[in-house]
Amino acid sequence: MYDIMTPGPTQVRGNVLAARALPCTNPDLDPDFFTFYKETCELISSLLHTGNQTLILGGEGILGLEAACASLTEPGDRVLVLDNGVFGKGFADFVRIYGGKPVLYTTDYLHTLDVEALAGYLEQDHDFKYATVVHCDTPSGMLNDISRICPLLKSYGILTVVDSVSAMFGEEVRVDDFCIDLLCGGSQKAVSAPPGLTFVTVSPAAWKTMKERRTPIASFYANLMAFDGYFEKQWFPYTMPISDIRGLRTAFENIKADPDMLKRHARIAQAVRTALTSCGLTLHTRDGWSNTVSVFDVPAGTTASAILTSLREDHNLMLAGSFDVLEGQVIRIGHMGENAKEEKLAAVMKALDAVMAKLGVTLTGSLEAAYLRSLG
Ligand SMILES: *Cc1c(COP(=O)(O)O)cnc(C)c1O
Repeated sequence: MYDIMTPGPTQVRGNVLAARALPCTNPDLDPDFFTFYKETCELISSLLHTGNQTLILGGEGILGLEAACASLTEPGDRVLVLDNGVFGKGFADFVRIYGGKPVLYTTDYLHTLDVEALAGYLEQDHDFKYATVVHCDTPSGMLNDISRICPLLKSYGILTVVDSVSAMFGEEVRVDDFCIDLLCGGSQKAVSAPPGLTFVTVSPAAWKTMKERRTPIASFYANLMAFDGYFEKQWFPYTMPISDIRGLRTAFENIKADPDMLKRHARIAQAVRTALTSCGLTLHTRDGWSNTVSVFDVPAGTTASAILTSLREDHNLMLAGSFDVLEGQVIRIGHMGENAKEEKLAAVMKALDAVMAKLGVTLTGSLEAAYLRSLG
């Protein structure tokens, strides 16, 4: 077993694993399970600071994104796709699959989305049913300011779909204050449960839009409406993965019991970034650094795969490269959820010191020492 310090999946605490090992009831028939599911959803809503309903769907993070688009999109709908990263752009595919017309608002991939510039664009064109926004675009670690972007979109009556799968609980998310209609999360990032579940918070405006559709939702598994009234009807559209949901509940109880979580993420992320830059490495993006993941350019004279292989083979440690337009160009350190512990990042820094030395990359100091100094 490797120490996984990737930006998801993250490490899973023992009490979450234990909850997944409990005996199983029949989740289609047992009224206690319906109550357990509903209370778990309510716990998620409260931790995301919203009165909106949460639904847990039996599928990986991607299912939440697809369900949001499938449930809102009708043929011909114009949808604004905010694109300053791989996941940002990816939303266009979901819009297209369900017959919508994605309008890409593409900016460079090195800077956080400029809210003033977006405001200027929207003055000219705001005829969109909804917009998609990625909170942390994980392949580059780019953080976008959803606290300003979503209220701006809502001021034009545009519904907001936010992918915060890799940001929430490492970065602040206040669904009601930020005016988020559909917020998508996943089990395997800062929530620190194993992969397999996604959850979506649904605003009254989003429910209304779904209910007033002229055409049926062109999906069964990705249809959020299929959950409407599940508790009253005591009926789920498909059998719920009960063990996964038990684990998820415990992961959220862990979050609830950890009021310093956001502060800890900020402290550790700051120390990691300071260590990397003070030793001569380059953060990939110019700004918009998420407190959940740090991404640095592969230094000259070596390759991403040499760094990752040595970390794995010599130090039993798994970091991540990246993909799509960033394939082979960067290394990603995940410091979210269970991974966001001071001593775990100290171990990552120490291993990186050794790997860089082995590969002949000269740093201008010790990453580990700089990290520990910066933590204070
Ligand atoms: C991890 C992640 C998802 C879920 O995608 P998987 O590749 O299936 O894990 C969705 N959006 C973002 C931004 C993510 O980081």
